[in-house]
Amino acid sequence: MEIVKALYDNHNRPINYLRLAVTDRCNLRCFYCMPEEGIHYLPKKELLTFEEIERLIRIVASLGISKIRLTGGEPFVRTDLMQLIRKIVATEGIKSLHLTTNGILTVPHITELKELGIASINLSLDTLDRERFKIITRRDEFDATWQTLQQLIASKIPVKINAVVMEGKNTDDLIPMVELTRHHPISVRFIEEMPFNGEGNHYPQLTWTYKKILSWIQQHYPNLEKMKDEPHTTSYSYKVPGFQGDVGVIAAFSRTFCGTCNRIRVTAQGVLKTCLYDDGVLNIKELMRSGVSDEAIKFELQKAFAARPKDGFEAELQRKNKSVHESMSTIGG
Ligand code: SAM
Ligand code: SF4
Repeated sequence: MEIVKALYDNHNRPINYLRLAVTDRCNLRCFYCMPEEGIHYLPKKELLTFEEIERLIRIVASLGISKIRLTGGEPFVRTDLMQLIRKIVATEGIKSLHLTTNGILTVPHITELKELGIASINLSLDTLDRERFKIITRRDEFDATWQTLQQLIASKIPVKINAVVMEGKNTDDLIPMVELTRHHPISVRFIEEMPFNGEGNHYPQLTWTYKKILSWIQQHYPNLEKMKDEPHTTSYSYKVPGFQGDVGVIAAFSRTFCGTCNRIRVTAQGVLKTCLYDDGVLNIKELMRSGVSDEAIKFELQKAFAARPKDGFEAELQRKNKSVHESMSTIGG
């Protein structure tokens, strides 16, 4: 398959990054992601099979996508995930594979992930306090996630901690989490809460905007330094001078980064989203199961990339289903 160099959307933004939710199932029930009783999980036949995922990745790689992130739900609850990972890292054109995980089932796979050259792991951890962890995730699993963090650091796999900042839930953790970067070469990224909790918004207005998060950190570390941001990153990076790691703030709800967005998503149902805030623009699973050729799928993908909304606000306006009430565990984050 011919590998092209670059793929651009209708706003001249390169598209080179696919985030793929391998399942909507999860072993936690995070407050900001799904209701306490969970969501109605998709029947297994509604998920893309590993063969379909491998085919999709070959197709997008041939179009110029070189970075893949596996997410979910919790990716490690999908049986034999490592089998899929081995295939993806061996796919022509794929330069880096990344994972987002809650860390509960991750430890047994760290050695192999390192051997396979995983580029980085995003570990979701919103608090360093066991009781608060239990309240936020509705499960008593802090120790498992903490152990994963320790082992990832020991294995020298690049680690980014994702912490969603929630009024009244974990704001006391912000500074202790910045302190983690004092002795560890990790990134701690604070994320604005988005309305993807499977039931609508939690708060009438977002209190902890990226500006407030940043100003809170700056009050405690007046010498906080701005770092140069990676191209296309959604995170504004900072560093406390002398600390080994760095700190990021992600304006996920304020949507300040759309102008350089290089990513597309495929949901657990196999639906393409060209923006986090759209409600799905192409059903890739149905297309594949209708028996069409790779060329036909490429054509449909390119058509969708040529009709991308310019930002998350436009995408939200264009939704057929106006209210945003999906769970992030279907979208993948
Ligand atoms: N289960 C894995 C995990 O938690 O890392 C992967 C899937 S999870 C949906 C991916 C990311 O989305 C996590 O870092 C999580 O914190 C984030 N997330 C989920 N719901 C969110 C929300 N409503 N607002 C902001 N971030 C959210
Ligand atoms: Fe599960 Fe991740 Fe959602 Fe938490 S954020 S409920 S760990 S999918």
